[in-house]
Parts: sequence; C-alpha cells; structure tokens
Amino acid sequence: MMQSYLFSRISEWAMAKTIINNDLEISYIITDSRSVSYPEKSLFIAITGGNHNGHDYISSLYQQGVRCFMVDEHYAIDEKLADANYIIADNTLECFQRLVAEKRHLYHCPVIGVTGSNGKTIVKEWISQLIGNSKVLVRSPKSYNSQIGVPLSVWQLNKNTEVAVFEAGISQMGEMERIASVIEPTIGLITNIGAAHQENFASRKEKLNEKLKLFANSEIIVFSTEVPFVEEGISKMYPHKNVLRWGTNLNNELQIVKKVVASSSSQVELKWNNKTCSLELPFIDEVSFENAMHAIAVLLYLGYDLKYMESAVKKLVPVAMRMELKEGVNNCILVNDSYNSDISSLGLSLDFLIQQSRKSNTVRTLILSDIYQSGIESEVLCRQINDLLKKKGISRLIGVGEVLKNNAQLFDLEASFYNTTAELLDSISHNTFKNEAILIKGSRNFEFEQVSDFLEKKHHQTRLEINLNALVDNLNYFRSKLKDTTKILAMVKAFSYGSGSFEIANVLQHQKVDYLGVAFADEGIELRKSGVSLPIIVMNPEVKSFPAMIEHQLEPEIYSFKVLNQFIDVLRNEGLTQYPVHIKVDTGMNRLGFMTSEIDQLKEVLRDLNEIRVRSVFSHLVGSDEVQFDDFTKTQINTFDRVTQELKEALGYSFIRHILNTAGILRFTESQFDMVRVGIGMYGIGVEGHKKLKNVTSFKSYISQIREVKAHETIGYGRRGELAYDSDIAVVPVGYADGLNRKLGNGVGKMMVNNQLAPIIGNICMDMCMIDVTGLNAKEGDEVQIFGPAQPVSDLAKALGTIPYEIFTSISRRVKRIYYYE
Ligand SMILES: *Cc1c(COP(=O)(O)O)cnc(C)c1O
Repeated sequence: MMQSYLFSRISEWAMAKTIINNDLEISYIITDSRSVSYPEKSLFIAITGGNHNGHDYISSLYQQGVRCFMVDEHYAIDEKLADANYIIADNTLECFQRLVAEKRHLYHCPVIGVTGSNGKTIVKEWISQLIGNSKVLVRSPKSYNSQIGVPLSVWQLNKNTEVAVFEAGISQMGEMERIASVIEPTIGLITNIGAAHQENFASRKEKLNEKLKLFANSEIIVFSTEVPFVEEGISKMYPHKNVLRWGTNLNNELQIVKKVVASSSSQVELKWNNKTCSLELPFIDEVSFENAMHAIAVLLYLGYDLKYMESAVKKLVPVAMRMELKEGVNNCILVNDSYNSDISSLGLSLDFLIQQSRKSNTVRTLILSDIYQSGIESEVLCRQINDLLKKKGISRLIGVGEVLKNNAQLFDLEASFYNTTAELLDSISHNTFKNEAILIKGSRNFEFEQVSDFLEKKHHQTRLEINLNALVDNLNYFRSKLKDTTKILAMVKAFSYGSGSFEIANVLQHQKVDYLGVAFADEGIELRKSGVSLPIIVMNPEVKSFPAMIEHQLEPEIYSFKVLNQFIDVLRNEGLTQYPVHIKVDTGMNRLGFMTSEIDQLKEVLRDLNEIRVRSVFSHLVGSDEVQFDDFTKTQINTFDRVTQELKEALGYSFIRHILNTAGILRFTESQFDMVRVGIGMYGIGVEGHKKLKNVTSFKSYISQIREVKAHETIGYGRRGELAYDSDIAVVPVGYADGLNRKLGNGVGKMMVNNQLAPIIGNICMDMCMIDVTGLNAKEGDEVQIFGPAQPVSDLAKALGTIPYEIFTSISRRVKRIYYYE
C-alpha cells in the first residue's frame, strides 16, 4: 500500500555519491533510531545535531534489519555491514531536504503551506477535517514543522494524493528558504505573526519577512486583514501575487459581513464571489474563529462551494493538542491520545506507550476506535494496523466501531470488538485491566474521554501537570551549551524534584542522558522495577541497603573511608570485583565527601582495591548561583581539578570528572570536565540573567464552591480573614496537606483564576483554602493555578522566603501527576 521507490532512484534525487550493494524498495524514511517499524523498507538518515549523532546507531539499526543509510562523508563506513547501501552526503540534513524537494516535483496536486506564529497545527487539522472524505489528503503528522519534520511530512506525498497540507515553523533566519523548497506550496497561508520564537529575530517585521519566503512560488497567498502587519508585508514582498484576503474590509475577497456570538456557537455571514451565506461555527472564542476562517478561505479557494461549507463547518471539532500519561486503576498506566487518528499518529503514540512501559513482560493494551484515513480501503487499513500492532509488541486490542468490528478476522492478536463506546463501557469493568500499559486512542466522535475517565485512578482534582516537551527542551538547552563529548547526569532524586518517578526517568532514558542520580537506594530500586536501565548513582547510600543496591545494579557515592570499607565488605561477601563506584570529594561544602587532607590516604587505599572500579570522581559547588561567591567557586573548581589529577595518576586509569550543577553549567560552563549534573534546570528553574527556561510543572486545582459573604464576616479557622467589603469567596480543594504552604494564607499567596490574581483569604486548611474572587467573574468549576506559566514558582518561593526546590519537593504524593506531550 505504501508507495515504494528503489534505493537507486532515491539516491538520484539526493544528487550525492552512493554505494549500492543490493538495490532495495524503500517506503519509509526514519531519522529517529528508536522507532523503526519496517526496517527492511526504511532509509535511515544519520543526522548530527547538538544532542545526538545519528551515525552512532547505524550498526544497531543494521542488526534490526535496516540496510539503507544516508551518512556524512566523514563517516567511516563499516565494511562488516555487508550488503548495506549508502548515500554519502556533504551534509545529511541538507541532502535529505534536497532529496524530498526533488521528489516533490513529481506531484502536481494543490499543496497548502501553512506558516505563522500560532495556530498552524489547528488550521492544518481543520483544513483536513473540512476536506474530510471528499479528497485523498496527505498532511504533516502532529506538528511536524521543523527542518527535519517538514521533509518527513512531504515524503508522504504519493501518486494517489489529491491535496496536501503541510506546516512550516522556523526559529531563526535562513531556515525558511530551505523548507520552502521542500514544501513548494501552491497555496500559501499565513495564520498570524505574534511574539512566539522571537528571540532570534530583530523585529516582528523581520520574522514576518522570513516566514513569507515560504510563498515565493505560490500561486496565491491566503491571509487575514484583521491581523496587523501581514498585508503590508505581503504587498511589499510580493506586489504582483494573487491574494485571498479575509476580514471585515469591504474590498476583501472573502468578506465577513456580520458575526453574532451566541452561548455555544457563532453565526457568521460571509460574502464570496458576490454570493452571501451564513455559517454556524460550533464555538464562541476568537482564536477558534480566526483559525476556522483561515481553513474556510482555503477550501473556498480550492473550489468547495458555500453549500458544502455550511454542513462541513458544523462538524469541526477541537484538536486535542496533547497526549497525556496518567495513573490508571489496578496499577495500570494510561496514555490518552485523542490528537488525531491516523496510522502515523497511532505509530507515534504506540512508541510513547512503549517508552513508558519498559518492564520486559508488561502487557500492552490498545483501545482503538475506527480511524479515519482518507484514501485507504478499510480492509487494507485494518491489515496495516494489525501489522503495526504486531511490530510494536502490543498484546491486546480492544476495537470500537463498525470498521474494526467488521474486519475482526484480520487481527491475529488477542482482540475484542464493540460497535460503540457505550457498548464497550457496558462490557468492561476495572478488573478487565491489571498491571498493564493502556493506550486509549479514539477519533473525536467516539468520545473516548469517557473511557479514559473510567480507567483513571481517582484522586482528588488537585493536580500537578508536567509538560514533557518543556522538560526535553530544557535538557536540550543545557546540552547545547556543552561540548559534544560531555556526559549528562540527570538528577531525579526526591521523586524527580516532585515531578514523578519512572515517568520522568523513562523520558530521560529515551533522550539518552548518560546517568541518573537519586538520593536513596529505594528511589533507584523503584526505577529499576519499572524497567529503567540507565546507570544510576545513589548519592546517600546506607549500609543496610548495600545488598539491595548491588542486586539492582545501583552505583553508590562513596564519601568516606567508613562507607568505603562497609561497601567493600559487602562486595567481598558476594565475591564481586570491579563494581562501579563514584568518589565524592569535599571542596568546601563541609557535608559529605573526602576532605582534601584525606586524599593521600585515599590514593593508597584505592590503588590496591580490586573490588571496586572508580567510575567517576566528583564534588559539589556551594554557591554557583551567586556572584558574591564566584571566587570561592573558582577555588572549589581548582581544588577539584588538582585532586582529581592526583587520583588519576595514582589509580593508573581514568574516570569521569564532574562538578557542575544547574547554575554551575550556566555560569561556569568552561569547567564542565567530563560530565555535568543537571537538576532543577531541567524542571524549568535557571539563573537570573540567563535564558529563561521553559516552565515544566503547573500546580492546579479548581473552584469547588463560591459563596457571597458580607463585609466584616470572617473566613475559616481562627476568624482570621475579616472581609472589608461584601465578597465572593471561593473554596479551592487544595490545602497544606497537598503541599500548599500554610504561610501563604492571609493574603501572602495568590492564585490565578481566569488570568487574574485572587488572594488567599484566611488561614489555609489541611485539605482546602479560600480565595477572594470578588469581581473576577469566576464560576464554580473554573480552573485555578497555584503555580505555572502564569504564576512562576519563583514568585511563590520569594513570598515564602524559600527556594523553588522546596516548593517542588513539598507537593504531596496524593496530588495526582499528569504528564503530557504537546
Ligand atoms: C541535587 C544535586 C545536584 C543538582 O543540583 P541543581 O542545582 O538542582 O542542578 C547536583 N549534584 C548533587 C550532588 C546534588 O545532590
């Protein structure tokens, strides 16, 4: 079904040197070595970025069956990999883009290129929803809009494609020209031009002009006259191009005559080609309206008539932008992805499910609704799904919908089928699921949120949301500051600074950090039990836990002769040698670690020991975030350098040296030695005066009740919060037992409601607190943010006279954690 191309033909598109040992048919291109479904039919592009070097994975991909590779000209080809084929590129990313651009020329259907600061993905999805089954459509998976995402998307174009829609995102100058030649849109659409990704552009105008380069060869540009700058920018750059402008201006090609917003829908009267019509849009907010109008304008240009639009727009549904990971009933984990339902996004969510359920014998279940994929017969589609599930090691399928049910005989794994979601919910109980990893993936109209609701472990509604994209972005930011060879130890002690256990560790392992650091053996054992296989250092090993640590291959920090001797005793008992350990040197903290005066003795002792192998030697900085201590920090670094040189000479072998924590990486980058230990920075807290890191965790609750209270009444225990005026007082079910510090009561702390700050009033109780929402237009059920992007945790820390570390790690385990990818 997937169109395939001979490797020799693909290499012609690449216009590069080739080695062909055995010409093969290729259908898929992969750039991520971790998700290979069809090795024999895949071409792997080895891309060297700041973080990974794709060439490192070639031999392991070869083991899995991949035979076709694009490599850099400096890469030394391994002769042992017999019958492998290579495209040899001066720059693999550029060559990949060139290859897809060349292939793009084979197709002559309309190709829509969407760019802009916000809304690209939604507009792309809505164009696709509106086109529905009327044409065979290809589109970018998820929000694949980067230098790599674009060629991966455009590669999907094939001889059956009738229309395509791709998004293009850029973060710096020079990027757009490269992806423009890959997409080569015939129809250009710009959504808007906001402040997102502004840091690398001198001005909004510069950013706009860079984005507009996407349309150099388009036959038309679609845009809104309601958005500032855009029209002016376009008429300057392309004075003679056809445009389709929409908005309220009388001379717009698509004119908004009137718009009325009702309680749950909006009515808009449009004029197009001298005809008017009235469309009912199933939402009321401005942003959705703008996104829908972009999509409508494109469809009208494609020739869809107003009658078609009338019924199509009614069916527009919101695009769920995130994939969530939650705790389920009976010790299950739940991944809920209602993003969009096609086979490529199914593959991506299965990869995430696998990443989060690594234990070798975990049962993996997929609850799947009929998926909508235009242009593929249902039987072919079901065979593809079955194939994919077997490749990914899914144990059980629960299918919902007529298409899946009617093709039940095509699935050869444990499977059950239901006609509707209601029928499914009638037939299952919590006991249908135990200790398994479940992916819930349903098209919007199947309303699978009911299934996810049913299977979710019920905690109270106060929750900590963890944005995994932001975590990865922060990690990559640190990587970008380091040399390629510097290793990363990611600190996941104290429940990953309050944000989670295996969920975070699995993401970090997937991102290929080198080590994890925990405080106590128990934390490491918990990670091992969930299948985390990275090396783990235990910072505070206790004698009693030594045997368990050894059993779970956890590597201790050795900080004194006493600990060293105790650990050696245990190793001798078990007859182990060369066990990896990490030596801590105290250079000024005066806490744990060998003092400099003990180093001579340490050299003597270590030299003769065969039980252990010193894997690393490290020290910890006491004031790396504060300018006033910079001289002291430099002294610590120099002492560390000297001591570790001496140890290296004495031991006669080398080991990893590391001293920098988050603030150290940002402020003393040059002292990175062989590894750094990043902690709070990954979770979004950096150092003032440096790049702002992305917010990762948001602590949220909701308003459970609002009541009017008269002036001079008091609120809560101890009659503390006396009201100065008649007030609306909201109850929020979060208290000090959840980790909301009681000192935040009586006006010290505030919470964000509807983008406005509401002070906490009266004393905070164990399980709830009260906030003053007078004049804020708040309703029961509204979300409340305790901290998050709109209320930085550092503000809260300041109000409390503490540091973000304490706030993060004080959030109680009873607060449910929800992990998501956008
Ligand atoms: C916690 C810890 C770190 C991480 O510190 P951050 O300031 O959170 O980056 C580094 N090293 C050691 C020894 C630690 O205990």
